[in-house]
Amino acid sequence: MTAVIDDILQRAADGGRISDEEALLLYTEAPFHALGEAADAVRRSRYPEGIVTYLIDRNINYTNVCVTACKFCAFYRAPKHAEGWTHDTAEILRRCGEAVDLGATQVMLQGGHHPDYGVEYYEGLFSAVKQAYPQLAIHSIGPSEILHMAKVSGVSIEDAVLRIKAAGLDSIAGAGAEMLPDRPRKAIAPLKESGARWLEVMEVAHHHGVESTATMMMGTGETNAERIEHMRMIRDVQDRTGGFRAFIPWTYQPENNHLKGRTQATSLEYLRLIAVARLFFHNVNHLQASWLTTGKDVGQLALHMGVDDLGSIMLEENVISSAGAKHRSNLHDLVHLIRSAGRIPAQRDTLYRHLTVHWTPADDPTDERVTSHFSSIVNRQLPLVSAS
Ligand code: SF4
Repeated sequence: MTAVIDDILQRAADGGRISDEEALLLYTEAPFHALGEAADAVRRSRYPEGIVTYLIDRNINYTNVCVTACKFCAFYRAPKHAEGWTHDTAEILRRCGEAVDLGATQVMLQGGHHPDYGVEYYEGLFSAVKQAYPQLAIHSIGPSEILHMAKVSGVSIEDAVLRIKAAGLDSIAGAGAEMLPDRPRKAIAPLKESGARWLEVMEVAHHHGVESTATMMMGTGETNAERIEHMRMIRDVQDRTGGFRAFIPWTYQPENNHLKGRTQATSLEYLRLIAVARLFFHNVNHLQASWLTTGKDVGQLALHMGVDDLGSIMLEENVISSAGAKHRSNLHDLVHLIRSAGRIPAQRDTLYRHLTVHWTPADDPTDERVTSHFSSIVNRQLPLVSAS
């Protein structure tokens, strides 16, 4: 068995393709250090300068009203619920303006499946943001929002994608993937579209030049084989389109929702999954760790398991933090975390281009205002920049 595992690790470390069965064997049986070393070898060959990237963006929610009622979600409120809210375009633009003042290069506009929000709503929203802040990349929504808006407006997926692209959508966030295989998906989100439909939207978008990222939420009771199956489903689409820029696994947060229970993905399982993902996705360029859900220490360890990106500081985040994610960060912490892992921090844009490489500590950014805020559920105005 050891020789078999060694052979698979060596082939994957050299950039070769591994099968689902081989990925599952590595995930469950490979020695931790050997697994991490192979994944890190892949990262080194892809990014030999040792640069690890981060992003400044703001996740802005336009509504928490949603008809889909996913069991794991602590963010949504059913239509007519007293705690349901929507933000008008003026408030969204105000938040975009604050983000720009703090150096953000991207906004992630996301919200519930509001029963009235068809393609027209998103066209209006994206065109308003693009007109006011053309320098902001709109890396937003997910396939489930696209399926919902197409249904509300009575148009095809393709029409919806083309119209929101024309209105200003730059790329699609990988949100809503959760678990793509049918069994675990139905268990946690019975009203959500299937994993196959999620991938269908991504494939249509990729064919029309709208790229995306792909996520995975682990820890709600899925099996090891289902975790690998989730990745295989994404890799199959990537073989055809090449449109996934990054894979981003994160762990289920168990507070304030209907699923409850504890997250069933330990830090060790998360790190092993990260390493297997780096070895499995020979056709996806970037691998992002989720410090928001696993904590900054585990995020830093992930840098030794194949990760080349730590994602955003998240000037604002309310969806995952509503379910209990309490880890916050700021520019100084994230840069320190990368540098103290022996890597070179660099701010990137949505396309993963380096905007500023902090080659030495003397190059480190100093803006103390760039920090995570997760409070807009309580304080809907959420001013990030002092009025004085
Ligand atoms: S995860 Fe998204 S689709 Fe599901 S209930 Fe929450 S807001 Fe609605």
